[in-house]
Amino acid sequence: MLRFGKTIVSESTYGGRFCNRWKTVSGLCSAKIRKFSDSGGDVDLVVVGSGPGGYVAAIKAAQLGMKTVCVEKDKTLGGTCLNVGCIPSKALLNNSHLYHQAISNDFANRGIEVGELKLNLGQMMKQKETAVNSLTGGIAHLFKQNKITEIHGHGKITSPNEVSFV
Ligand SMILES: Cc1cc2nc3c(=O)[nH]c(=O)nc-3n(C[C@H](O)[C@H](O)[C@H](O)COP(=O)(O)OP(=O)(O)OC[C@H]3O[C@@H](n4cnc5c(N)ncnc54)[C@H](O)[C@@H]3O)c2cc1C
Repeated sequence: MLRFGKTIVSESTYGGRFCNRWKTVSGLCSAKIRKFSDSGGDVDLVVVGSGPGGYVAAIKAAQLGMKTVCVEKDKTLGGTCLNVGCIPSKALLNNSHLYHQAISNDFANRGIEVGELKLNLGQMMKQKETAVNSLTGGIAHLFKQNKITEIHGHGKITSPNEVSFV
């Protein structure tokens, strides 16, 4: 079991057979990963959580040739950062700063004169949502491109080599 930030990345059999081959994967902390048979529903790696820790791990693993599944309990990929943290907060912060510049004398001092100023909070929130949707959609696109299976549910490590989800 590996940890990427708060995200747990676990080996998984998905209840299948495995061959006793061990493979060292560079870029994943040089950890040994058991390489499972390609038959049935077996996968090489299950990543629980699709935040910056999880999605980077899943994409890297898939690029290294592992059959990868990512289990995410939220509707969209990207975790705290893309959905409710870094991205939306910076979108709102940037627009609030522009508003502050316009309403204070800062714009006027720079020779930029505006007429009556109004804050359209609804539009500001819509623009923030557009930024969030485009970035979470970008992760979904990268998952498809790298053939990572996206499962929406609450993942639980039920044995050293098994992850279940509801
Ligand atoms: C308001 C705010 C602003 C921030 N701004 C910045 C910033 O500007 N710069 C910066 O570097 N950092 C910022 N951060 C911190 C940044 O968001 C986190 O460091 C980062 O998201 C951590 O990534 P992570 O993958 O470890 O966890 P998370 O992003 O929290 O992702 C974990 C994911 O796992 C899922 N999950 C958890 N348990 C399960 C389970 N059992 N089954 C299925 N899915 C599960 C969660 O739903 C979530 O999607 C900010 C955070 C907040 C709250």
